[in-house]
Amino acid sequence: MSTDSSHSGNKPTVIIVGGGIIGCSAAYELSKAGFACTLIEKGALNQEASTAAAGMLGAQSETHQPGPYYELCRLSQQLYRAWTDELEQVSGLTGQYVAEGIVRAALTEEDEAELRGRLSWIRDAEWVQPAEMLKLEPELTAAVRGGLYLPADHHVHPVWLAKTLQAAIARQGCTIREWTPVIRLLTEPGSGRIRGIQTSEGPLYADLVVLAAGAWSPALTEPLGLSLPMFPVKGQCISLKTEAPLIRSTVFTKGCYVVPKRDGSYIVGATQTEAGFDKRPTAKVIGELHAKAAALLPRLADAEFVSTWAGLRPGTRDALPFLGTWDAAPGLIFATGHYRNGILLAPATARIVSELAQGRPTSADLAPFTPARAAADTAA
Ligand code: FAD
Repeated sequence: MSTDSSHSGNKPTVIIVGGGIIGCSAAYELSKAGFACTLIEKGALNQEASTAAAGMLGAQSETHQPGPYYELCRLSQQLYRAWTDELEQVSGLTGQYVAEGIVRAALTEEDEAELRGRLSWIRDAEWVQPAEMLKLEPELTAAVRGGLYLPADHHVHPVWLAKTLQAAIARQGCTIREWTPVIRLLTEPGSGRIRGIQTSEGPLYADLVVLAAGAWSPALTEPLGLSLPMFPVKGQCISLKTEAPLIRSTVFTKGCYVVPKRDGSYIVGATQTEAGFDKRPTAKVIGELHAKAAALLPRLADAEFVSTWAGLRPGTRDALPFLGTWDAAPGLIFATGHYRNGILLAPATARIVSELAQGRPTSADLAPFTPARAAADTAA
């Protein structure tokens, strides 16, 4: 392997570690901004969390309090449509963007109270009484107590979005190296500056390195003395089909959602367990998930079973991503820990990574997402 990360003349060079949606999106924006990019992936691109996802762009449905995280989710949601349109133009493929919102149905008194509480701060949301909700989605269980209608929470198909991104970054001239594990980050003795990476095939040097290794990121920061409080959160899903479409909107209740995809299938998700790096789906859990979906939409009880899978969300202790730089390791940009919302957060993350790489002001205040909060934990 060459010790230069690019052969692109005088362009500044960037290595992106991790070929999930975050790494691919960053590679796309950085290539567009004139960087010579090399994307390094230990397996094949987009085979981990990013293609296990349901693809909801749930800025409203997935946040539980106002603040900087909600604003980051909103920013990304607002960028999404134009971003996927652009990717589709560059790649000639479709990310299967669906501009239908989420019906967030309350089935219990506790859930109803929690959802009503969100109305004081959430935007693009209205409370819907049970009868109105059944008009919106007639196949919903009659036990629904009402809920939120969230018209801006659209969705994409993560597998198709991944294909679109892969084609787009190849078109942008990004170098892609699959089946190449990064063993460690290379630092300059004394300054701690990140100079490149050590891969299974040799060293590779660049002006900047982006850490986008999802749930595996802590293994790469540990040797720098930074213990990222991250862990894999296993999520299991099923895909079902019915002869005629049952729903238009995504239908979501506590612990279960059903996302109607353009091909007529539904993604039903998703469980949440901390089980290390084991991502095998299990019959018991899948059975329980199906029972929840059928309680929400009774006609799903007899739906055709299509497939099942599981993925590992890059969870963080405070449920916030690590996005930004860290003074102790100049030259390294963190873009990891997107937990339940990495599909939603991809365009905003990629834009911010590109702004950091160019030394420009960022589109969001990164203080709440700083990797330095892990450094404080590490020192404690
Ligand atoms: P990943 O996709 O895991 O990619 C990281 C990549 O880094 C992997 O390909 C890995 O092989 C590679 N890598 C790791 N270590 C190394 C190394 N040392 N060298 C080289 N490569 C390395 N989000 C939403 O926004 N909406 C949803 O509806 C949604 N639903 C979900 C449902 C499920 C069941 C799951 C599991 C997740 C869901 N998510 C959703 C969350 C979303 O999928 C993640 O937040 C997102 O995929 C994280 O992207 P990533 O690129 O950081 O991680």
